[in-house]
Amino acid sequence: MMDALWDFVSHMERDFERIFSSYEKWQVIGGTVIVTLLALFLKDLFYNLNDVWEDLKSWVFRMARKIPPIRNYISDQLDASRKEIEKGMFEDAADDDVPYLKVLPSEGWSKEEVIRVASNVLGGGKYDWKEGKISGGAFAGSDESYSALLVDMFGRYSLANPLHADIFPGARKMEAEIVRMTISLFKGGPEHCGCLTLGGSESLLMACKAMREWGREKGVRTPEIIICYTAHSAFDKAASILGMKIRKVRADPRTFKADLQAMERAITKNTVMLVGSAPQFPHGIIDDIEAIGQLGLKYGIPVHVDCCMGGYLLPFMEAAGYSIAPFDFRVPGVTSISADTHKYGNAPKGSSVIMYSRPEYRHLQYFVTPDWPGGIYATPTIPGSRPGGLVAVCWAALLSHGFSGYTEAARNIVRTARTIKSLISDIPELQLMGDPQAGIVAFTSDKVNILKVGDLMNQRGWHLTYVQYPPGLHICLTSLQATHDFAKNLANDLKKTLAELQQTSDLAVSGIGKVYGTAATIPDKSLIGEAAKIFLTCYYDTGFKEETSSKDI
Ligand SMILES: *Cc1c(COP(=O)(O)O)cnc(C)c1O
Repeated sequence: MMDALWDFVSHMERDFERIFSSYEKWQVIGGTVIVTLLALFLKDLFYNLNDVWEDLKSWVFRMARKIPPIRNYISDQLDASRKEIEKGMFEDAADDDVPYLKVLPSEGWSKEEVIRVASNVLGGGKYDWKEGKISGGAFAGSDESYSALLVDMFGRYSLANPLHADIFPGARKMEAEIVRMTISLFKGGPEHCGCLTLGGSESLLMACKAMREWGREKGVRTPEIIICYTAHSAFDKAASILGMKIRKVRADPRTFKADLQAMERAITKNTVMLVGSAPQFPHGIIDDIEAIGQLGLKYGIPVHVDCCMGGYLLPFMEAAGYSIAPFDFRVPGVTSISADTHKYGNAPKGSSVIMYSRPEYRHLQYFVTPDWPGGIYATPTIPGSRPGGLVAVCWAALLSHGFSGYTEAARNIVRTARTIKSLISDIPELQLMGDPQAGIVAFTSDKVNILKVGDLMNQRGWHLTYVQYPPGLHICLTSLQATHDFAKNLANDLKKTLAELQQTSDLAVSGIGKVYGTAATIPDKSLIGEAAKIFLTCYYDTGFKEETSSKDI
């Protein structure tokens, strides 16, 4: 056997000598280099086939859009949508008595003046957000004494900057306490650590940054994050900012949970993070965190649990009497968790907690410049200067609720969500999307146009969230809406809407539903992106009127 092998090798050697003897040495070396590079290129192409296809498609559309008739048509369409968006935005906000300010008043206003004008501006808008017909619009605000506490706390720390821990030691202590209390809610021990950020998106950005550095230390040059397509788009944003790559896997079309086989198949040597959501935003579904943790352990890859939405809801569900699958640091393999205090924590917007299972991971998140002329500069998160007032109000929110307050809130929210679930499953035209366990309930229809349902509900004062792929609507319940009557009102209005839909022959969808309807038919998603950017631009518009001076007000 060995002899045969030896024979074969020496034959090969002789053949090789014969074939290449006619070439110069540099030709052989050059040829080898070219063949190797070609092989690497083909391998890369094979692994990124999907991206190549997407690039090709978007290139074809970009080229097509340069053809004059198509270009003109598209620019007319975009112009029309800009006008429509502007109209909506100015109708909503503009009270003609309060024209837009475009320059600073030359003299400062009196306090009374500031408050008078602000009251006019704040009075705008056609929705009463405290009434609660709005999905996830506000998490708290019905309790006057709670609001007064927040105002008082913000006042005490409104100008504090925790960047200077020596000058504002109180803010530092509160910040450290918020992080520690949140870790203990997620059953972390003394090894677990974290930071306060300004929101869920920043928490996710920080986790991605930490794991990018983790990958770099192991020699990964193009780090990849694997998420289910239902995970929050803040991951896409983080990846785009950090130069990382996102690999999206499908969800089970029936349960809407991340498909774990697809997730396992997507793992490569470049994978630095697996993500599970608890729950995800579109359908309120909690992924199988234990199984994702197992995948992480099997391949030695960090696992992030996006508990931004569920952060101050899920940890209280057991005490509130609802069983829930494991989602916290007790799950083996989980290395980081994000939890928003400004969602179910009922803190004012501008706070979230990012937590890690080991200090090494948090170290990778930090940013330090030792050689800056302005000093040795070190920040834990994105901002430099930070708002002390937001730390103080977040701290006050956590302490004024306490464990029992959040448990009570969780009980009401989950109970209402379950009621809505059962009421909707009794409506024959509607189907629940998966089996949501927490505070979001999504539904769709295989009998009627769900976008039209959203449109008609909107005319009844409801502001439900539109979801897509497939189209549906969701309600994100907050403390403002956690009552039995609320659930019944929602179901009744849905039934009335469906009855109305049977009577009418007008099936045209208007408003936001129209945008989603159109978007679903356009293959070129970059075009929808452009229309969305028009919306962002209109947001900062100060109107068509000429310069307004403060005297006009
Ligand atoms: C809201 C949310 C985020 C992002 O949080 P922001 O505070 O809006 O930046 C991330 N993930 C999920 C699941 C969310 O619901």
